[in-house]
Amino acid sequence: MPVYEYRCASCQRKSSFFVKSINAPLSPVCSSCGSREMNRVFSSFAYHKSLATVHEESGDPDKPGEGYYNDPRNIGRWTEKKFQDLGMEMPSQVQDMIEAARDGAMPESVKDLQPGLTEV
Ligand SMILES: [Zn+2]
Repeated sequence: MPVYEYRCASCQRKSSFFVKSINAPLSPVCSSCGSREMNRVFSSFAYHKSLATVHEESGDPDKPGEGYYNDPRNIGRWTEKKFQDLGMEMPSQVQDMIEAARDGAMPESVKDLQPGLTEV
């Protein structure tokens, strides 16, 4: 069962609520002051880091540092950037491969797109 965290708009206290279903209507009430003005708080686990943050921490895609491609979210970034630099739309086939690679499937053809992973 997912747990959602809410912050009370009145007293700023955080409360956690079990959510029986993602689609179930939820009207959280502050456990401290009883206010119904609750705002959803999104957890800041590393897993939930935004893509922008991951990119920032990983550095320039043209100069991938050590461990750059250890983060699957960086896979295909170099390719994306190249297409962007050329002002070209990335073919959907390439997009699909990159998406698949980011999900953990690493087809040979995507490996070839990675400068650091190309076998010599
Ligand atoms: Zn409150």
